[in-house]
Amino acid sequence: MKKLALHWKIIIGLVLGIIWALVSSSLGWSTFTDNWIAPFGTIFINLLKLIAVPLVLFSIINGVTGIGDPSSLGRMGGKTLIAYLATTLLAVALGLVLVNVMMPGKMVDESSRIDNRISYELWAQDAGVEVKDGLNFLQDPQYKDRVAAVTEVEKNKTIDEAVASRLETVEKNKKDGPLKPLVDLVPQNIFKSLTDNGLMLQVIFFALFFGISLLFIPKEKAAPVIKLVDGMMEAFLKMIDFVMQAAPFFVFALLAGVISKMAGNDVGKVIEIFKGLSWYSFTVVLGLALMVFIVYPLIMKLIVRVVPYGGFFKAMGLAQTTAFSTSSSAATLPVTMECVEDNLGVDKKITSFVLPIGATVNMDGTVLYQAIVVVFLAQFHMIDLTLGQQLTIVLTATLASIGSAAVPSAGLVMLIVVLGSVGLNPAWIAIIFPVDRILDMCRTVVNVTGDATVSSIIAKGEGMMNYDPNKDPDDAFDPE
Ligand code: ASP
Repeated sequence: MKKLALHWKIIIGLVLGIIWALVSSSLGWSTFTDNWIAPFGTIFINLLKLIAVPLVLFSIINGVTGIGDPSSLGRMGGKTLIAYLATTLLAVALGLVLVNVMMPGKMVDESSRIDNRISYELWAQDAGVEVKDGLNFLQDPQYKDRVAAVTEVEKNKTIDEAVASRLETVEKNKKDGPLKPLVDLVPQNIFKSLTDNGLMLQVIFFALFFGISLLFIPKEKAAPVIKLVDGMMEAFLKMIDFVMQAAPFFVFALLAGVISKMAGNDVGKVIEIFKGLSWYSFTVVLGLALMVFIVYPLIMKLIVRVVPYGGFFKAMGLAQTTAFSTSSSAATLPVTMECVEDNLGVDKKITSFVLPIGATVNMDGTVLYQAIVVVFLAQFHMIDLTLGQQLTIVLTATLASIGSAAVPSAGLVMLIVVLGSVGLNPAWIAIIFPVDRILDMCRTVVNVTGDATVSSIIAKGEGMMNYDPNKDPDDAFDPE
């Protein structure tokens, strides 16, 4: 009998996890799931992160020294950044088109939208924000009663604690000057950056700087360091092979934990959560699906050429299922690297340099989602965003996706910045918060697939793509 491919086992684990969570919730066992099953999901994420952070360090140094001369490094670096930017812009444009065509925010009944609009104007008044579309419901006599009623409700509203603490962090960041992101890029202590998961950009900066410097010292001195780094990288990649053998079980535990947390002891709650936001969620999922099933394969067909439609998914299946279950492209990075290198046949020189950077800065799924959310929330509050505001969304969402850490919910937090940039109320993230984890899982798949596509483009351009259609994708993770 042919053995079942690892990514199918992971999918089975995933489905069983969901079933387990729903059954255990309806039987009132969610505490058992939280105490005895969910921790294995956390262990999985920890193991992946344990490998990912040093892997980024060693693999970028390895990539830089592997490319060898600084001028080809510069050329490849430039190409990589342009390709990442291009796919990001494509994603944000797709998001904007979809949300303007499908209008998920207008699916809500008119009277609630009027109330939402009034509450927005009340907020704008307090926050000193200019209402750009020229309407003024507060002064309109036909809404006099509604305004009074909404004002009363607003007075008693408390915003969710989790949201409040996120807002506080962002407020704190706002006080910093415009060059703060640049200053943040340069660490004063690399060991500190390595211990803090959010500081991946600093690790990348250090690794690039260190790798480039290695190219400029005498060869005999550089050689042992390069050898050591190469060995380190191999060892970390081997660790991932071991971890992946247990991935189906880990994924089961992870999903059981996530869904059980949503449902508590009441399965109906999961359905309730989605009901109100179903058209919005559908728009996001549709956009993400178009990216994964049409846009990337099309790019692969037109630019990279050698990889067939099915072959692309077969090669990337494990990385995609891992991204979906962990909601973190950083945690998925080791898996992505092996899939792209061994299964898509992209040369190690490219993967070790392009992928760690991509996991941190290239988030096509996140940017697409942010574009949709912002316009959705505006529609939901009866606000027509001007063309200028929509272009601002393109810009800030692009920057926000670069600045987002590759961890769960990062995109949601950065959304606060994007909302603020077009004069909308950042506290609205509370509205979409309930369905965010599931959408996060989907957008992470896109983020990871986008990185893989871009590294294939670069590899093709450099003549470093050796795809073998007959390869068994599980061999990449065989610890033997
Ligand atoms: N979870 C996503 C990632 O790691 C980021 C996001 O929240 O959109 O790629």
